[in-house]
Amino acid sequence: MQKVLILHTGGTLGMTGTALVADAYAAELGEAVPQIKELADVEARVIANLDSSDLGPPEWTRIANILHAERDNFSGFVIVHGTDTMAYTASALSFALLGFGKPIVLTGAQRPLLRTRTDARRNLIDAVEVATMNLPEVAICFDGLLFRGCRATKESAVDYRAFSSPGTRPLARLGVEILLEHTKSKLEDYIFLPNFARDVRVVMATPVLTADQFLRTSENAQGVVLVSFGLGTVPCLKGKVHHAVAERVSQGCDVLVITQSSGEVDLKTYENSRLLAEAGAIAGGKMGLEAAVAKLLHGIENIEKRVDRIAYLQNDLVGEHNK
Ligand code: ASP
Repeated sequence: MQKVLILHTGGTLGMTGTALVADAYAAELGEAVPQIKELADVEARVIANLDSSDLGPPEWTRIANILHAERDNFSGFVIVHGTDTMAYTASALSFALLGFGKPIVLTGAQRPLLRTRTDARRNLIDAVEVATMNLPEVAICFDGLLFRGCRATKESAVDYRAFSSPGTRPLARLGVEILLEHTKSKLEDYIFLPNFARDVRVVMATPVLTADQFLRTSENAQGVVLVSFGLGTVPCLKGKVHHAVAERVSQGCDVLVITQSSGEVDLKTYENSRLLAEAGAIAGGKMGLEAAVAKLLHGIENIEKRVDRIAYLQNDLVGEHNK
């Protein structure tokens, strides 16, 4: 039987009460959902018991360290996590454990395990089963679908179908059979870099965004994710946002451009995106907000030279830019 390690970090799955709070019973996941023991030789550890809105770089590093230390001892890993920031943690682990080569499957629930009509039981069982498969990916398993972690996003706080992966198909549909559709092949090298910078800000382009607003939001920041319109445009004619970008870039801040539409950022098509490129902004391709924030924090912490960091941010490493 395959050995699977479950790391419980918190979230709705293990919460009780009205005003849901984390509960210690999560330690006994194997007892609460005995079916998982039929699928794998399971060990469960509670490493945190937090609402996922309180999880960030320190916890990503902690989880990555545990996964690294246990890599040879288990065939797969399940991380029980709140849905709110699950896609950020999945992205962060994708970059921290590049080429890990074994399944790391994040799951959680929209309704706690101890409530009737819970989705927790199914999600947990599905995640454990996926963790026994040949899947060299960090993935999110939720409501019968498996998503690439660095492409997933939480799209609903009320439906059981909480996640989607814009611009790319799910890795698998979990029906009568689990058919892995387009998973990646194993990377040759395993690169373990578990640390992240702390200070990346997000600036959203709106019709009223100005250079001044951009400068105020990005003061002393190590990096900025600029969420542009369309293919990578921001207000330039009146807003002069490109001037503010140039000023920050000259101070050593990385400005990574993603889009609030579907599709891929391309800083060549429109004059207003060309001006951003000229100002030193970096095209973030197809990355969503979660992958962009995690990758920028990771790049800033681990790659010293700007030219290498730009290449790192723009290369597709774990499917963050691909179909
Ligand atoms: N607020 C919860 C969390 O992210 C929501 C959930 O788990 O679904 O921890």
